[in-house]
Amino acid sequence: MSKTKQTKRVTPASRDTLRTMPDTLPGAFFVLDHADTIVYANASAQAMLGTPPKALCENNFWHCAPHLVSPMLHQAVRQTKQTRALTEVQYVSPITQNWLHVHLAPMVGGLTLQFHEASAPARPQEVFPQGEHLCAYLAMTGIDITARKRAEAAIHTLIDAIPQLVWTGRPDGYINYCNQRWRDYTGMSAEQAQGNGWMQCIHPEDRQRVLAVWQRAVQTGQLCEAEQRLRQGTTGAYRWFLMQATPYKDGQGTILTYIGTCTDIQEQKRVEQKRIADALHQSQELIHALIDSNIIGITSSAVEGEVLVEANEAFLRMTGYSREEVRSRTLTRARITAPEDAPLLARAIQEVITHGQHTPFEAELVCKDGSRLSVLLGGVLLQEQPRQMVAFVLDNSARKELEQRKDDFISMASHELKTPLTALKMQASLLHRQLARQGILQAAPALSSMEAQLNKVIRLVGELLDVSKIQAGRLEYAQEPVDPDALLREIAETMQHTSPSRTLVVRGAAQTCLIGDRDRLGQVFTNLISNAFKYSPDTETVEIDLATSEDVVMVRVRDYGLGIPQEQRDKIFDRFYRVADPKRKAIPGLGIGLYIVAEIVKHHGGTITVDSAVGKGSTFTVTLPRTRDACAVDARGERVN
Ligand code: ADP
Repeated sequence: MSKTKQTKRVTPASRDTLRTMPDTLPGAFFVLDHADTIVYANASAQAMLGTPPKALCENNFWHCAPHLVSPMLHQAVRQTKQTRALTEVQYVSPITQNWLHVHLAPMVGGLTLQFHEASAPARPQEVFPQGEHLCAYLAMTGIDITARKRAEAAIHTLIDAIPQLVWTGRPDGYINYCNQRWRDYTGMSAEQAQGNGWMQCIHPEDRQRVLAVWQRAVQTGQLCEAEQRLRQGTTGAYRWFLMQATPYKDGQGTILTYIGTCTDIQEQKRVEQKRIADALHQSQELIHALIDSNIIGITSSAVEGEVLVEANEAFLRMTGYSREEVRSRTLTRARITAPEDAPLLARAIQEVITHGQHTPFEAELVCKDGSRLSVLLGGVLLQEQPRQMVAFVLDNSARKELEQRKDDFISMASHELKTPLTALKMQASLLHRQLARQGILQAAPALSSMEAQLNKVIRLVGELLDVSKIQAGRLEYAQEPVDPDALLREIAETMQHTSPSRTLVVRGAAQTCLIGDRDRLGQVFTNLISNAFKYSPDTETVEIDLATSEDVVMVRVRDYGLGIPQEQRDKIFDRFYRVADPKRKAIPGLGIGLYIVAEIVKHHGGTITVDSAVGKGSTFTVTLPRTRDACAVDARGERVN
């Protein structure tokens, strides 16, 4: 570039030249007014954006020129307006990915922007050459914005008259006006509030949240709403306001401005906060009532820890431990729970870790004096970090005592009944035989029926005694080799004999030997077969299948009778449980047969399962562990040693 300074006079004849001059400038050239509305765009700008002049002029620059927009440009525009100085900036276009070098210049009523596009960033002196350079023309531009300024002034006078806090914002989120009421309340001047200045009067705790809501609204062109605390300029106190801003758009849907209001909601907030505080207070009272209640013992501890860190009065009273022992952290889970319940407790804690609570279970607590207290325990996770749990302890001893008394009664009653019944049966048999020997046969049928009924009662009383013994852990078992094939054949023969109208089919053979109590195992199969008969009133056949695998002997008892509803299948092995349905009402029983069966099978290390379909029948499967070498059985099922 020449160092010689040249000057040219612009004559009236060259006015056309002046008008078309910006078109000859390299790169896009824009003139914007204060509201960033495009007042002029040169030919390169229109070519660069691919938009006709009409669609550019009178529209907001930020919406029309997505190729050119960047946060850096926003900042540069703001800076130019504030400093009234020439500004330069360069950045990558978000759309073309080319480098844009921009020269911003302030002017009366707005500013000019000149864009240069390049594939690489320029060194500073290349963007806009510094130092001395040739000036061919000095162009001065001016736009008549008197009408617009008047209109704005009229709007501001109107807004100032509103007794509410009102403000306006530009489409790019820049706050450009706050009304008199707003200024009076906050004590800030219009200049102080401009841009992001308004945030200074928002409570520090609300600032980030409100700014994020406002920025999101500006990005999406949506309504904006947020609750915030605004500082009162005179007192420095904060009051709650509801901030709402609405975008106003032109016919093409372009946002022209945002109008925002701040409504005082201090009173509503106070009422709401009081309601929350009252509710919290009420629930705290309830919790205290629960904690202080005499009914439920409450303890708290770290889930993975051992020590009880807190316990309420009810717990201490139940167990006899002192508050001092809790305070000194000497009460551990291991110390207060019965050793035999330790596995149950470990499982419950695992459940709390995975599900946040555990299924209540019965256990025994070891009291301070060494006595045992029967309790029902439930536990929930109280907090995650660090993991704390609360346990609820319900004194179960009254119920347990009642149960114990009932069990004692059953045990005593069956004992008392057993001796006279056995004697009665012996007398009846003796009488039967004596009369037969003397040839007196008239009384024989009545005596047979008497013996049969006595057998039933004796069996029932025997079962009741067994239940008592199981409860007390006193059921005794013999240990002897048992041939399951012979046992099943024998039982099947007897039962077929007593129920001649039924068909009992025995299939397969175990061909192996078990170690166990022959009579007790006999009791298992007799019970299953007699149930199969009892609960198939309209069908004849009951099938028994025997099989052996490498480890177990399997016996299946199948009937085609009433079946058992799905939801009751697990319960039928419980003590005194009977399936309640009208079809079974007339079928006698005490609900103890399967309980005894399950206990005997369990004692032998086996399993019992049931498969059933209502109205189609049931299959009970018993597996018993095979004991190899305990006894050998030949191919025909005969014992050989
Ligand atoms: P019960 O004395 O009532 O027969 P059990 O303990 O032997 O007592 O059986 C418990 C319940 O299981 C019975 O009330 C009956 O409803 C059901 N049940 C047992 N065996 C069968 C079966 N083979 N078919 C249908 N229901 C059965």
